[in-house]
Amino acid sequence: MLRIALPNKGRLADEARDLFNDAGLEVRARGDRALTASLGGEFQALFVRAQDIPEFVADGAADAGITGWDLVAESCRSLDVLLDLEFGRCRLAVAATEESRIASADQIPVGARVATSFPRLTRRFFDGLERRVELVPVTGAAEIAPHIGIADVIVDLVSTGSTLRVNGLREIATVLESTARLVVAQTAGSPTHSADKAKGRALDELSAALESVIRARGKRYVMANVPRARLDEVRRVLPGLNGPTVVDIMNGGTFVAVHAVTPATTIYRAVAELKALGAEGILVTRIERLMP
Ligand code: AMP
Repeated sequence: MLRIALPNKGRLADEARDLFNDAGLEVRARGDRALTASLGGEFQALFVRAQDIPEFVADGAADAGITGWDLVAESCRSLDVLLDLEFGRCRLAVAATEESRIASADQIPVGARVATSFPRLTRRFFDGLERRVELVPVTGAAEIAPHIGIADVIVDLVSTGSTLRVNGLREIATVLESTARLVVAQTAGSPTHSADKAKGRALDELSAALESVIRARGKRYVMANVPRARLDEVRRVLPGLNGPTVVDIMNGGTFVAVHAVTPATTIYRAVAELKALGAEGILVTRIERLMP
């Protein structure tokens, strides 16, 4: 059994579950508050706090984990990233109050007090600027710190920016960009005996399965009957993975069926252009998994 540490609550929890479900590794928990769940196959989920996942994976309590890159970087543990999962997108940012005249990180005065729950990343950021600041460690709600006089600026996670705005704060610099990642201990990638080899293979298969789901989310599968005479133009509209698949239609002649994988972002245009080329029976579907 391989143990995969997943966030038990918060922004990443639902998306991590959805990803496993979509990959065919359904999370089968005995109840809402279960601490473990079967994922099918050789995998078992451990539900823990997202903050603890880097430690658990680095210490070998879990064989792999899903958590934010911000937390992995802050932990300073040696972990390998197998896959960027592309959800939980946010940035660790420096913010000052609307009233302050600080417009960039190098305008922050020497000795300024910085409230954050990311002390290591914050320290590294200001060391990089060769600016000595005083850290004010908090465990959450850093936004309040400048308003109650315990800090001059904050370093906190920002996604849409609405929390900062509501709290009268303005973003002035980015410390780190983050998304959720699939991580393993550094040794997991260099197996030395057969048990580790099997584990390495299982983790590679898991990573490939999750990657196929992520890749598929950005694509659509298009099928259409198009006039044979316009195939060259259809090829330009539907490049597909290796060009569209072209299939003869029984009783056809003037029409052929084309199938292609197309970026979801351009599907609206592609359908309109197919229609303009005389396509009929256009069908667009989502793809569950895509392994090129
Ligand atoms: P927003 O108002 O959308 O900018 O979100 C900011 C708030 O949500 C802050 O309190 C952050 O700590 C939290 N937050 C935003 N994105 C994430 C994330 N990916 N992981 C954890 N916390 C986040």
